[in-house]
Amino acid sequence: MSIWIDLWELFFPRYCVVCGRRLLKAEEHLCVRCMTRLPRTRLHLQADNKMEKDLWGKMSLGRASAFLHYTQGDDSRKVLYELKYYGNSRLGIFLGRLMANELRASGFFQGIDCIVPVPLHEKKERQRGYNQSEMLANGISAVTGIPVFNKLIVRTRQTETQTHKGRAARWENMQDVFGCTSPEAFQSKHILLVDDVMTTGATLVACADALLGIPNLRISVLTLALAGDL
Ligand SMILES: [Zn+2]
Repeated sequence: MSIWIDLWELFFPRYCVVCGRRLLKAEEHLCVRCMTRLPRTRLHLQADNKMEKDLWGKMSLGRASAFLHYTQGDDSRKVLYELKYYGNSRLGIFLGRLMANELRASGFFQGIDCIVPVPLHEKKERQRGYNQSEMLANGISAVTGIPVFNKLIVRTRQTETQTHKGRAARWENMQDVFGCTSPEAFQSKHILLVDDVMTTGATLVACADALLGIPNLRISVLTLALAGDL
């Protein structure tokens, strides 16, 4: 069997998404060096961390954390680009597993009933072929055993891209974007909302707003990356 794998690697070599170096057999998507060097926030180890403080009062918040820092020129930027714009859906599952493995020992996932990825608009998901947040959620689920429910929140209208918008415009752009499909089933549940990047928090808060009517719902938040200005 191994000889076939060796031959496969010979004809279809795989490369690290960050440094471009050829991957060793045991490596996936990132070489060990780049994986070790990814700029981790370790926010899950801090009670009342800055991300939680930013979301307080905007939702019934449990915990919040982001796995990586996201700044211009950073390695995490290459990872995010690969995940969002180069059709690498399997990288999403891999990163979901990676962050779940690193956060698990801290008890971050304790008490969470269900993982809910932030939805893309249907049209955008068709274009991209997948929802990157759902891939992250699937990876987290594979490690923690917590089920993914990707139909709780739906995007009711398509938004313009947030990338070049200022802070106020981002908030305005996100109003009434999401709806909730089955509020009854989530009464008194604790959900983990998963997204790729938190910038101002506008998207996450808009999702939480769509769930406002659900009694005793708790929301924890986990994103792959946290943009630098927060
Ligand atoms: Zn590398």
